[in-house]
Amino acid sequence: MLRIVLAGICGKMGRAVGRQLIEEDDFEIVGGVDINFVGEDIGNILNLKPMGIYVHNDLETVLKETNPDVLLDFTNPKVVMSNIEIVLKNGINAVIGTTGITEEDVPKIEELSREKGASIIIAPNFSIGALLLMKFAAEAAKYFPDVEIIEYHHDQKLDSPSGTAIKTAELILKNNDIKSTPTGEFEKIPGARGGNLGGIKIHSVRLPGFLAHQEVILGSKGQVLTLRHDSLTRESFFYGINYALRKIKSIKGVVYGLENILD
Ligand code: NAP
Repeated sequence: MLRIVLAGICGKMGRAVGRQLIEEDDFEIVGGVDINFVGEDIGNILNLKPMGIYVHNDLETVLKETNPDVLLDFTNPKVVMSNIEIVLKNGINAVIGTTGITEEDVPKIEELSREKGASIIIAPNFSIGALLLMKFAAEAAKYFPDVEIIEYHHDQKLDSPSGTAIKTAELILKNNDIKSTPTGEFEKIPGARGGNLGGIKIHSVRLPGFLAHQEVILGSKGQVLTLRHDSLTRESFFYGINYALRKIKSIKGVVYGLENILD
């Protein structure tokens, strides 16, 4: 049985993921952390029968009281780094779904992981389709070095661009010589050409109606190749989350990107 503490349990992902974790025979939720509904029975939060486990607002206390096998985090890009520090300093493994972590943060996380020998999987996107999109985009960019990314999310999303867009750009840049932004252009409205990561323009759309979608557009003389992925419901993330949770015990150190450990 894998004993799990779920941080952000009262949020959109936390509630959806919490309900599906309970359906798995080898998973057990032993604690829930959130700054909302503190003291509420987790069963009520998940629209299930009361479980006798209550939402707590202090991660470290919950980790010390429950000594779980793993922390699963779906909180907030502003607090995720501090949660990572807490969990790794307590020598507990973690699976991080919260976005906001980039390649630049990895050395510090590696150091924390080494200190107490705890392992961590950071997955900006758990959906297999999105991972394939990243892989195909990096491959296509070998032949199409002019690339832009458009990502579309629901209007409640706090960070932009999305963790997936950053990871996609990082993967493309790792293997390819990307052409930088055209020179000589000027923006009549600042920001009109989007953000810039290593020469790749990233555009973020935030509207009700969307969940999580991304297009990678590759242009060349006389042709345009568009790769697109759509997460239509939060179920699209469940397979990858369960995979990461089951894999964490066999991981050493830090994994940034689920694509690195998919069989
Ligand atoms: P959400 O609905 O805002 O849920 C986050 C929950 O965490 C909220 O209840 C929030 O409270 C709470 N929270 C804030 N600070 C906290 C803290 N210090 N300790 C404990 N809980 C805290 O957001 P969401 O849509 O569920 O998304 C959560 C994260 O997962 C985002 O970063 C999102 O981009 C990411 N995500 C990742 C994937 C993936 O495949 N990796 C998929 C979907 C979403 P307040 O609302 O009061 O701040």
